[in-house]
Amino acid sequence: MSKIDAILSAARRHSNEVIKPGVDAWNAARKWPRTASDKAAADGLLGLYAPEASGGQGLSLAEGIRVFEELGKGDGAYAFTLSMHNICAFAVCGFGSEALKKAWALDLTSGRKLANFSLTEPQSGSDAANMLTRARINGDGTWTINGAKAWVSLAGEADIYLTVVKTSDAPGHKDMAMIAIPKGTKGLSFGKPYDTGSWNFLPVGEMHFDNVTVPEENIILPAGKGLQGSLMAIDIARVSIAAGCCGLMEAALDTALAYTRNRKMFGATALDLDGIQWMLGEVATDLEASRLLYRAAAAALGTPEGPVMAAHAKRFVPDAAVKAANICTQSMGGMGLLSSYGLDRLSRLAQMLRIVDGTTEISRLVIGRALKKRAESLPAVPVPKGFGQT
Ligand SMILES: Cc1cc2nc3c(=O)[nH]c(=O)nc-3n(C[C@H](O)[C@H](O)[C@H](O)COP(=O)(O)OP(=O)(O)OC[C@H]3O[C@@H](n4cnc5c(N)ncnc54)[C@H](O)[C@@H]3O)c2cc1C
Repeated sequence: MSKIDAILSAARRHSNEVIKPGVDAWNAARKWPRTASDKAAADGLLGLYAPEASGGQGLSLAEGIRVFEELGKGDGAYAFTLSMHNICAFAVCGFGSEALKKAWALDLTSGRKLANFSLTEPQSGSDAANMLTRARINGDGTWTINGAKAWVSLAGEADIYLTVVKTSDAPGHKDMAMIAIPKGTKGLSFGKPYDTGSWNFLPVGEMHFDNVTVPEENIILPAGKGLQGSLMAIDIARVSIAAGCCGLMEAALDTALAYTRNRKMFGATALDLDGIQWMLGEVATDLEASRLLYRAAAAALGTPEGPVMAAHAKRFVPDAAVKAANICTQSMGGMGLLSSYGLDRLSRLAQMLRIVDGTTEISRLVIGRALKKRAESLPAVPVPKGFGQT
């Protein structure tokens, strides 16, 4: 069996044996299931893209991202969180200083330690350049950070936070940097986790920096490279989210099929009705299209087409997942609304995945910009006189 097939089969097993049976209890306990992520680590799911020399699996992005489709069949928020950890482990191994790699690489790729990426602030989500968190570069090379982040996944649970900061008050993004801040650093604190309903097991909340000082060796991306590097990480995250959404769609479709096959009505079953077959058939088509799209986007990562392909996947697939969860609920009538069938949870997760790591609207902006560029390369099509030429 090839390495990727073995990893995908481990991810499938993790979904069936750990996530699906555990997720309702995790939500009720409102606590990150560290035993579950430890099991994922033992199965090699936490160092997917990191080189083997650093304890990782050394998979390409196109291969490794498929893991999140398998995990998304169990839970989209869990899949998203592990995808972010994998991106952080990849960043530390690829861009970290030798000292940072020595201190953290093996712990991250083995999953002994968890990592998070932190960009969003209370006043700056989509408008990331409006961030207020500042790093002062001290005479001895250390950096002192003040400010606050919002919507930090694994807040207080992760062991290290790859944090995007500005290094001056100049407007724009030219002074942005990324620095690794370990949990337990003096001056670092966390707010109360937000009440997120359908994925309460994932602590998401604010992170505050009060004169947090970290050594120079913790710099991952120096001033000037922070936004560009973050966008590369976000492109990988966007495609991973699209992969997770495919898993979610498959889980919703399977629940609806297994239920409607048994539901007796009009002398046959719900699934014998053309109308129900058409509804679920549309979900099946959207799932096939989504799978092709995220895999094409994953293959494009690292090429000039990567950002726009990631935007296409992030724009299309979570929308298709919201539609799929709603259609599958509808096909089951009232029963679709009962929490024991899980479709209500999948609907909320799909909606969350439309927002996190760049909303659907931000993906539209990226696609719009690419279209404008393409338009400029085309021979002009004349606009008739009097119709407002440029
Ligand atoms: C569960 C969860 C976990 C998260 N984890 C992390 C994390 O670990 N690290 C991290 O950094 N962030 C994290 N986020 C934050 C997430 O990336 C942001 O929520 C997202 O980028 C949107 O920002 P916002 O919520 O501030 O919305 P806003 O930016 O306030 O947007 C509000 C609305 O305006 C729309 N909009 C914005 N700009 C435009 C425009 N130019 N044109 C048209 N419409 C526009 C948006 O699409 C949206 O519909 C998480 C979010 C969630 C929900």
